[in-house]
Amino acid sequence: MEDLIKRVARMIGDAKKIVVFVGAGLSTESGIPDFRSPGGVWDKYDPEDFYFQNFISDRSKREKYWEMATEMYGAMKDAQPNAGHIAVAELERLGKLDCLITQNIDGLHFKAGNSENKVLELHGTAMHVSCLDCRKRYERAPIQDRIAGGEKAPECDSCGGLLKPATISFGQTMPERETAEAFRRSADCDVFIVIGSSLVVYPAAQMPVVAKQSGAKLVIINRDETACDNRADVIIKGQAGTIMAAILKEVKGGKE
Ligand code: NAD
Ligand code: ZN
Repeated sequence: MEDLIKRVARMIGDAKKIVVFVGAGLSTESGIPDFRSPGGVWDKYDPEDFYFQNFISDRSKREKYWEMATEMYGAMKDAQPNAGHIAVAELERLGKLDCLITQNIDGLHFKAGNSENKVLELHGTAMHVSCLDCRKRYERAPIQDRIAGGEKAPECDSCGGLLKPATISFGQTMPERETAEAFRRSADCDVFIVIGSSLVVYPAAQMPVVAKQSGAKLVIINRDETACDNRADVIIKGQAGTIMAAILKEVKGGKE
């Protein structure tokens, strides 16, 4: 393991453009469950209940969606960034980060100190809610207060449209700018580091493939196997926070 950490630290030292790509596994050490691990969200809920089409067409599915979303938000709202988020923010401070492509919706990168203009949120954010009709954007907390007050599937106070957390559900279109930008940066980096993603959700999971095909070195840091392990130059299996902290320590020449 130590050799691998040194190898990745050297790659980071030599690189000009690093793209970091993360998934739910980066945030489990902050107490937010991922989707696919035992005890994760899909152990408790059926993904089919959460297709966008159902949200739009079926009131009971909409209420169920808000029930799950309320539970997840409960785990997210006071969560604190862990050593993994802090290491990624440190890469930005060292001038090493071209961009951070995140599938996470928990806002922890910003709490850790990454800047807005470095982070591409591919799946939106749970920290806001938006109206599906007029696009009005709300802070999440006051909408959760309405839910706590008895509303089961809140509606827009401007136009009466359906409100939904500003996240991307199955069947919902990916954000155009972020997706295009993420693909462009993936094709133009020299090191692409995946942290805490099973790499099975598309099109996000295509990005490491694009990076690799464009000549980047591919590093995967994940507890379990991923769908791209066979393409990686370095795979480090284990806890993302511990491993990223060790890598950054090495990058900085052993200093904390
Ligand atoms: P996933 O659940 O498919 O995979 C998570 C991966 O992380 C797994 O392979 C697991 O082995 C690994 N992992 C878990 N804890 C780890 C740790 N401490 N260290 C290293 N690896 C660890 O997640 P995904 O690939 O991100 O895709 C799921 C979708 O879920 C994403 O689209 C995302 O939007 C959404 N999601 C986000 C959050 C969040 O914002 N924190 C939480 C749950 C789900
Ligand atoms: Zn509206």
